[in-house]
Amino acid sequence: MTAASFTLKCPFDLFDILFDKNYNKVVRGSPMSDQVTRVVIVGGGSAGWLTAGIIAASRLGQVQVTLIESPDISPIGVGEGTWPTMRSTLQLIGVSETDFFRECDASFKQGSKFSRWTSLSAEDDYYHPFTVPAKYHEIDLAPFWLPFKEKINFANAVCPQGAICDLGLAPKLITTPEYGGVLNYGYHLDAGKFAPFLHKHCVEKLDVNYIRANVTQINSRDNGDIQSVTTDLQGDVTGDLFIDCTGLGSLLLGKHYGIAFIARNNILFNDTALAVQIPYSSTTDNIASHTLSTAQTAGWIWDIGIQSRRGVGHVFSSAHTTIERAEQELRSYIQPAVGEKMAESMAIRKISINPGHREIFWYKNCAAIGLAAGFIEPLEATALVLIELSAKMIADQFPANRSTMDIVAKRFNSALSHHWQRIIEFLKLHYVLTKRTDTDYWIDNCRSESIPENLQELLELWKFQSPWLHDETLRIEMFPSASYQYIYYGMSHTIDAPGNKNNSKLHQAENLFMENGKTIQQLAKVLQPNRELIEKIKEHGLQKI
Ligand SMILES: Cc1cc2nc3c(=O)[nH]c(=O)nc-3n(C[C@H](O)[C@H](O)[C@H](O)COP(=O)(O)OP(=O)(O)OC[C@H]3O[C@@H](n4cnc5c(N)ncnc54)[C@H](O)[C@@H]3O)c2cc1C
Repeated sequence: MTAASFTLKCPFDLFDILFDKNYNKVVRGSPMSDQVTRVVIVGGGSAGWLTAGIIAASRLGQVQVTLIESPDISPIGVGEGTWPTMRSTLQLIGVSETDFFRECDASFKQGSKFSRWTSLSAEDDYYHPFTVPAKYHEIDLAPFWLPFKEKINFANAVCPQGAICDLGLAPKLITTPEYGGVLNYGYHLDAGKFAPFLHKHCVEKLDVNYIRANVTQINSRDNGDIQSVTTDLQGDVTGDLFIDCTGLGSLLLGKHYGIAFIARNNILFNDTALAVQIPYSSTTDNIASHTLSTAQTAGWIWDIGIQSRRGVGHVFSSAHTTIERAEQELRSYIQPAVGEKMAESMAIRKISINPGHREIFWYKNCAAIGLAAGFIEPLEATALVLIELSAKMIADQFPANRSTMDIVAKRFNSALSHHWQRIIEFLKLHYVLTKRTDTDYWIDNCRSESIPENLQELLELWKFQSPWLHDETLRIEMFPSASYQYIYYGMSHTIDAPGNKNNSKLHQAENLFMENGKTIQQLAKVLQPNRELIEKIKEHGLQKI
């Protein structure tokens, strides 16, 4: 039955009537209608507000988005590193990049630097930059770089970004318009400021309806769909599609529907995080434009610079160390920056992590996004990007009516399962390539029983040919094969026989290596230090697009 024929047959008082911005009547789905027009998001952390913004902006005038947030349960308040995808997300939502820098304490992120992951040597480090190797879709430069691997590391040979990060430079100029970049970039941000910033924008600019109350009960239709949620302060809220963004509690998908949680701690062991915020020694200290990740005895420490402070945290496996030892490693790490006295006295927050995800992510008329869907350690900052990706998938393939929802949900589940599997494999790659044997943690990480089968197969393949485009099975892979190259070669692994070296491309490869060197020199002359550019943006603003 089409929507048009349905409206003719139904008496009007069965419908909610809305008016759009031109005062045209928009008919919302009624309890008897099959149309999906009322989206109810439960949860107001980064997941809830990003999802609200993405769906409301993509479906403006077509759906009414309501977000319910508990006044009693705070968002988790961590999650400070994003991917470059956040630029297109903020642009889609209609946020000004200048406002974002001014209000979220944000800085630029151009990738991650991994230190001491391969060995204990102080010189052991490599970059996973956000820019792919030069002409990546035309030529695989890795086999041509291999003969020179003792002279120059892979990332520096094929891309300028690692060298630019080492120089502390920003990825764009003050004259580059909002969201444009000279080099590819994402952000570091204050998670405590990000959700309120999105909240204000979504309510004021995207007509998102905000309800501050606790969801206390979930009410079902005869077919098992959620009909409404009961709140303690605002009564029942009825909807056609519910999105569970309630964080680790997973109130709708986990608790109400009982969708199983698949633990992944047999592959990725880290289950505890200790987080601390440290000041810069001076307001003029430069801000690193990469996340620094330094391997420890049973985990690793993240170090993220935003405008007003650094966020530092130790993620570790409680099966391989004690909390006291992990805390001591964290305090030793921050000591050079803050001094012995402050390092010993600073308050540290403990966060438990249960690595894994739900078996499916969309059941009946309820999808879960964010921590409610799952969480794996933040090694490559995959949580916010997965939120963006999930919300965009829902917004782009929004089921116009209930009868099309199940097939959309099925495909959503299949795509998300693939992404989780690939994320887990990619994170595990950082561990299995280690040559460290100093603790059981590193030894256990290399045991074959902890390595997913598909990753084992790829590792076997990469002995003979470089990771490259052929390894990508989906059109949109979260980690392109270029990311595998950066980790694989960054951790000093090489291929025995450069099987995919195409000698007819030798000349092109040599030119690209030379051009990369020149680009680094040119960029070093024009790009500004990260902090200087951010201060300029806050003062003058970036050119709007
Ligand atoms: C140590 C650590 C480091 C991380 N680092 C990164 C990183 O660098 N990059 C990255 O991308 N991600 C990172 N993450 C993940 C990131 O923090 C989360 O994915 C992100 O904050 C989204 O959280 P959320 O909105 O799903 O959940 P939460 O922030 O927990 O929000 C849950 C919301 O649900 C609401 N709620 C709960 N129950 C009810 C109820 N009954 N009624 C109404 N409302 C309710 C709460 O009020 C809250 O608003 C990190 C996570 C951890 C633990």
